[in-house]
Parts: sequence; structure tokens; C-alpha cells
Amino acid sequence: MHFTGTVYRNPYWPTWPLLEITQGCTHNKCEFCTMYKDVPFRMTPMEWIEEDLKELAEIVPDAKTIQLLSANPLCVTYDKLAPILEMINKYLPKMEYIYACTRVTDIRNKTVEQLKSLKEMGLREISLGSESGDDWTLERVNKNCTAADIVEQCGKLTEAGIDFWLCFLNGVAGKEHSMDHAIHSAELFSRCKPMLVGTGGLTLFPGTPLLEEAERGEFTPLSEKEMLEELKVFVEHLTCDCYFNTHHTSGIHLSGPDFLKRKDKIIEALEHEIRYGDMDRLAAIRQNKRTL
Ligand code: SF4
Repeated sequence: MHFTGTVYRNPYWPTWPLLEITQGCTHNKCEFCTMYKDVPFRMTPMEWIEEDLKELAEIVPDAKTIQLLSANPLCVTYDKLAPILEMINKYLPKMEYIYACTRVTDIRNKTVEQLKSLKEMGLREISLGSESGDDWTLERVNKNCTAADIVEQCGKLTEAGIDFWLCFLNGVAGKEHSMDHAIHSAELFSRCKPMLVGTGGLTLFPGTPLLEEAERGEFTPLSEKEMLEELKVFVEHLTCDCYFNTHHTSGIHLSGPDFLKRKDKIIEALEHEIRYGDMDRLAAIRQNKRTL
């Protein structure tokens, strides 16, 4: 199998096997991200993809799921993507569920009809690395995407019947814009109606512009307690029913389906953690994190 750089997989439920169809990230300029810093973007050659599929056909001929790699494999145009999905179905004929993480902007170059056709070929679920639904925040961290883009591209996915996730990056707006980030993201995500909302917390990694800005006093990171407070405000303003997933460092178990039914309990758990949680322990856990 061909894999380039560190492999990142679906963080919430196992999707196996993995197939690299692109390498690195087309954008690679989000101010907090180190994931693909050392991997220049390129399309994986079709011969490599076919070699990998032949290998998979021998190892897991009955595979029903597969995850496409790397950072944003759906950036490729329909004309290039469709033959890859056809090839997946040829070598793995029991395929039912093709999953990929990708950038919101990668949906722009596909029409609803093309998205419907990709769904027919098995593309069932997409995780969109939105991080925020607040324009100030998206620009501040150089996501190169706007709130309007998120609404428009999610609308196309809904029309095509492809399930999607939206991700909230807790803490990424810094102290001054924390509440705008939380409220505007929750409001925008609620409008888009994703099947899953995922939340992770910002860690400032060496080599990122955001850490350098923090060191120069141009970005004020949230404390662990402020991160939890921001997450609570986000949850309070989120009004769409969805699977809600979080991998906050506190480890409190908030993940599961039926968000609206569980919303009050999630808020209660966050309030308890804000009040009684060991913030030094959470800061120590974050310091030991090596990647998003
Ligand atoms: S966060 Fe995603 S889009 Fe941004 S640089 Fe990292 S991999 Fe690329």
C-alpha cells in the first residue's frame, strides 16, 4: 500500500481499509495546523491507486467500507474522482460506504448532479473540516473559506443526499472572539443540519503561526476552563439534532446520538467540569499532545 507522511483516520468510528488518492493538503496554510507540513500536495498516480486496490482485493475482498486519504481527497474534480470510485467498486464489489475528510471548498467544483452520481458510486459520508462558522475566526486562522461557503456547500450535499459532519475547533478564536466563535458556529451549524457535529480543542503546536503569534502577544489562547466555557456556549446555541462527538481533554463522556435529547445533560456535565474539574491536569494532558 502507498501511504505518504502521517496517516490520519476517521476519529470517531473505524473505517477500514484506507486508500490514499491524494497526498498532503491543497491549502496547508491554516494557522494552527501541522498535519501535512512536510507533505507537498499531489494527486496519487492512478497506477498506485490501482495497485493498492488490487492488494486490498486480495486482503479484504469483502470490504464494505473504505476511507479515502489524505487531507482533502475530494478536491479532485468529478472527472477524476468518478473513475477512482468506479475502480473501488470494481476491485471491492461489496463496497457500501465510502468516507472522506475534506475541505468545505472541495465541494465547490462539483454540481449537485455530480454529487448525486458520486453517492450512487458509494460516497456516503464526508467530514468537513469547518472549525468555525464565524467569518472573523475563519479569516483570522486563514481557513480560506467563509460562513457563506459552508452554508452553500452543505446545501449541495443535503440536496445530493450525502451525509456530512461539521467540526468545531474549541478555542481557535482566542480570548477576545471566543463567544462570537461559539455562538456564530452553533447558529451556522444548526442551519446546515449535519448528521454529526464534532468538537476538538485547540492545542498550539511548535511550528505553527498561531503559536508564534501567541508568543508575540498577538493571540491570546483560552485557559482550559475558558475552553470548557466556550464549549458550553456552543452547545447551548446548537439546535440541530445530530450525533454529537467531542474529544475534549477532560475526558468527560459527552459523545453519542440524539443530541437534542441529551443537550441538557451535556450542559450539566460541562458545568460540573467547569466548577470542579482539575484544570492543571487538563493543561498537562494538552501539553503532551503532539497533533490535532
Ligand atoms: S486544517 Fe485541514 S485544511 Fe487546514 S492546513 Fe490542516 S489539513 Fe489543510
